Amino acid sequence: MKRLYVIGMGPGSMDQMTPQAKKALEESQVLCGYTTYIELAKKWTEGKEVLTTPMTKELERCRMALEQAEQGKTTAMICSGDAGVYGMAGPILQMSEEFPEVEVEVIAGVTAALSGAAALGAPLMHDFVVISLSDLLTPWQVIEKRLDCAGQGDFVVCLYNPMSKKRTDHLRRACEILLQYRPATTPCGWVKNIGREGQTSKILTLGELKEEQVDMFTTVFIGSSSTQVYSGHLVTPRGYEAKV
Ligand code: SAH
Repeated sequence: MKRLYVIGMGPGSMDQMTPQAKKALEESQVLCGYTTYIELAKKWTEGKEVLTTPMTKELERCRMALEQAEQGKTTAMICSGDAGVYGMAGPILQMSEEFPEVEVEVIAGVTAALSGAAALGAPLMHDFVVISLSDLLTPWQVIEKRLDCAGQGDFVVCLYNPMSKKRTDHLRRACEILLQYRPATTPCGWVKNIGREGQTSKILTLGELKEEQVDMFTTVFIGSSSTQVYSGHLVTPRGYEAKV
């Protein structure tokens, strides 16, 4: 069978990868992916063919992987976190209609919302939304509308792509929208380089977050009206204590 695995490798460290992802990597003859992730998978790249493309060549990367698999080589497309969360699983499956002989298998990984939440405590105990602040593929007005709705719904908000060199004010604008619905004292947090060298995190208020400089390797958490800090951990109580 001609097989293409689309693998979520987790946030970075090897022990945050699922055994299923490890097995699929080991089985693969060809590894495709963005250079950074291939670096992370280095342990498995020995003896395997490696094909990398720059960050912006996503569709070429998908086609390349499908073509390799079509030639009969078991291939792995590697993504950080989960491949189906702002990753390559979607475009690969869309394109796979052109490659009927290739069986695509998506392998789940630990997405940054989950690994980041664990690093901060338990901020996602209750209903939450994930919003990417990247307007490369989504118009900024749509992002603003989603932030506004999240504010109205009092959801805990997890932000991906909070800032880049070009988009330096997106986080500030996101905070301004949420400040219309929740106080500046609302507990928030960010985690940078989860599972990688230099992992750092910080708990701060929404008012402080508005002025914070973060980067594209950071995931941001904005508490709901019930999120609190318990001994240095961000927690959104689910309400068990009210029942006791
Ligand atoms: N597929 C990935 C998300 C890719 S979008 C996943 O499921 O995690 C890229 C964004 O994800 C980054 O801008 C950042 O907000 C977040 N991210 C991914 N890996 C991260 C890590 N190791 N540490 C912190 N944030 C990360």
